[in-house]
Amino acid sequence: MPRYDYYCSNEKCGTTFELFLPMSRVDEPTQKPCPSCNYKTILRKTAAPLIGDPVRMGVTKPPADFSKYVLGKIKQKHPNHSMGNTKINHARDI
Ligand SMILES: [Zn+2]
Repeated sequence: MPRYDYYCSNEKCGTTFELFLPMSRVDEPTQKPCPSCNYKTILRKTAAPLIGDPVRMGVTKPPADFSKYVLGKIKQKHPNHSMGNTKINHARDI
């Protein structure tokens, strides 16, 4: 479950807190008053610092097509390398 950071927009309070929430409920805390001062505007911090850190975003595996993408890049640079498709390429090479 991803972690989201929230902060109270009351300058005199400035309470910050973090919650683990499913994406569908990410806006829920912004509809509740501040737990510290009851100020009614809670804002979600932008997730910018989390971009590029998939583990903190709750992603533990690379995207499904990541290895396909990498293989594609390798094949582009080394078009003659078999990359495991030995049957096909050997037949052509011989
Ligand atoms: Zn507050």
